[in-house]
Amino acid sequence: MPDEEAVNARARFEKQVLDEAPRLGREDSFEFGCHPGVACFGDCCGDVNIVLTPYDVLRLKNRLGLGSEEFLEKYTILPFSKDQRLPAPLIRMGEDGKKSCPFLNLEAGGCTVYEDRPWACRMYPLGYAKPSDAEVGEEAFWFLMEEEGCLGFKENTRLKVADWIRDQGIEEYDEWGEKYRRLAVDEYLAKDKDLSPQQMQMFFMGTYELDTFRRFVLKSSFLDRFEVSEDEIERLKEDDEALMEFAFRFLRFSLFGKQTMTIKDNAVPERTQ
Ligand code: SF4
Ligand code: SF4
Repeated sequence: MPDEEAVNARARFEKQVLDEAPRLGREDSFEFGCHPGVACFGDCCGDVNIVLTPYDVLRLKNRLGLGSEEFLEKYTILPFSKDQRLPAPLIRMGEDGKKSCPFLNLEAGGCTVYEDRPWACRMYPLGYAKPSDAEVGEEAFWFLMEEEGCLGFKENTRLKVADWIRDQGIEEYDEWGEKYRRLAVDEYLAKDKDLSPQQMQMFFMGTYELDTFRRFVLKSSFLDRFEVSEDEIERLKEDDEALMEFAFRFLRFSLFGKQTMTIKDNAVPERTQ
């Protein structure tokens, strides 16, 4: 699917969900079962758009022992359209007839990155919608996404939404999803201010290209310009999650003008700008 078409299809899908999908709460239940015994096992891991969050990339690149840039280059595509305001990489599906996910290996039992699979793969068949500021007052909700050919809905296993979220390890992904969402819905962007190409590049580095961001912090004049404690510097060297928290803080400062960083007294203000 051409890049712009993929982005537009996603926007249409999101609108349809908000308008029409039956809404589920945490205590509601649904019938579903997925295991290697179902005849369709693995069919849904091909020819599908799986958007990766920053935390998905962090987990997957560490799982595979790759740097973030190497992971993004090898395993993702970055669609872009004039209506898209922030970057959203997708898993690069294979070029075989089924356009299979590169992490699928049926002989090896299915998903080879199962413990670190992306949020979207954990959630299926549930979708999650959090109405944006335009729909203030509406609660977040879950909904069922019944993909054509998915036999899991015939398994007669009743599951509660809350149990599914716990059992699929979705909570920690949701925590990071919420941190990212707060960054992505900053009032700066809500005022319809688009990021310039340079700002977009900075945003991408601070969210997805974490290893580049680490070099930017530790190997440039960054630490001459900003107050960062020795303890924090040590954490940023080793701890990707601490680095991502720090990156989100820096993006708020550098792109949205928030006072989330402290400039050193002797730093040259123009250069910092
Ligand atoms: S299509 Fe449905 S039942 Fe089949 S493997 Fe995928 S999620 Fe499981
Ligand atoms: S990451 Fe795993 S679960 Fe997700 S599409 Fe790929 S093989 Fe399937």
